[in-house]
Amino acid sequence: MKNIQNLISEAEKACENIFEQVEDNVLFNQRKVLAAFQENRVALSHFAPSSGYGYEDLGKHKLGDVFATALCCESAIVSPLIVSGTHALTIGLFGLLRPGDLVLSITGEPYESLKKAIWGKGTGSLTEFGVRFECIDDLSNRELILSTIKDKKPKMVYLQRSCGYSMREGITIAQMENIFGEIKKLDPSIIIFVDNCYGTFLERREPSEVGADIIVDSLIKNPGGGIAPTGAYIAGRVGLINLISSRLTAPGLRQEVGSYAGSYTPFFQGFFLAPRVVGNAVKGSALIGKICETIGMQTTPNPANYPNDMVRKIIFNDREKMVSFVQSIQACSAVDSYLTPIPDAMPGYSSEVIMASGSFNQGSSIELSCDGPVRPPYVAYIQGGLTYEHIRIAIEEAFSKII
Ligand SMILES: *Cc1c(COP(=O)(O)O)cnc(C)c1O
Repeated sequence: MKNIQNLISEAEKACENIFEQVEDNVLFNQRKVLAAFQENRVALSHFAPSSGYGYEDLGKHKLGDVFATALCCESAIVSPLIVSGTHALTIGLFGLLRPGDLVLSITGEPYESLKKAIWGKGTGSLTEFGVRFECIDDLSNRELILSTIKDKKPKMVYLQRSCGYSMREGITIAQMENIFGEIKKLDPSIIIFVDNCYGTFLERREPSEVGADIIVDSLIKNPGGGIAPTGAYIAGRVGLINLISSRLTAPGLRQEVGSYAGSYTPFFQGFFLAPRVVGNAVKGSALIGKICETIGMQTTPNPANYPNDMVRKIIFNDREKMVSFVQSIQACSAVDSYLTPIPDAMPGYSSEVIMASGSFNQGSSIELSCDGPVRPPYVAYIQGGLTYEHIRIAIEEAFSKII
């Protein structure tokens, strides 16, 4: 135990600079969120539930306004009726794309759970509606990206900020600013669509501030602050959001309908807390990175820098070690700590997956969670943590088994 305590203390010292940067970002983003609440005159009456068609549901519209302001977007859909991040991304794509359109992903194939929505057979996928979806793997190959755009004239460019279950690093706002600028110079009418899952409040600016037209994140990730029980946001340019809200409900109905019989309080409160909670999780991720570096385990993002992704990958190259690590994280949860996760098939994933998520909201990954497809090179993806202290306690346990 002494060993692991020393290891963690040393790692904390080595993280001082990164932690300072985290605190700066939290303060900056907290100001942004607070100002959004004030500018939009949020009142207690906006937290009330609604029923039936939900006409004059004040909370729903106010929530959209607050998110739009804080995320520097013209408009936003924020809804508990969106069941997950995958659902939100799917609504966004179907809302904007029409038969014959081409989408060019510049960060390779999208997140696992979206593949059926894009390429699935017999499922009503985008492909079956005549939308083509092509991918370029390497964001740094800008010549290829720009020449492909020139030649093929895609309606939309798609970028996934976080790594998902791939081995690449997260995409920074600076990288986005760079490439989005060039794309818009080439063709200002292209829709830039960003999967911002795990990205919200990671930096001071959102992708919408550097040229993205639409951004999407799940409320059981960063923007829900660990408090929102479900839902997602889709934010961006008002004309595009109107098209997407026709797909959220029905053309002509848009956001005028849709009720929620629960209170809106956790959505507002979670968003208010989100900058701090994201900061806690980033600190945890930086700490884990330093520990891995010290004991010679492979990890990304690079432990030397402020993490460019909320998701930290630890490469085990060993099935048993990976499974055991994930199980220790589960054992350190506040909820379901007595359960032992085992590798199994999951809807939307192509190989067996193991998931530790002893969370207050099921599957919430802004809460401390750890998962991964159980296949070589046996990578555990660890993310979240509502408090820094909880992450510290959990990794004390998980790493004391490894060293
Ligand atoms: C979580 C996530 C999604 C959506 O996942 P859901 O589990 O459906 O909420 C999409 N893209 C990325 C990069 C993600 O991390």
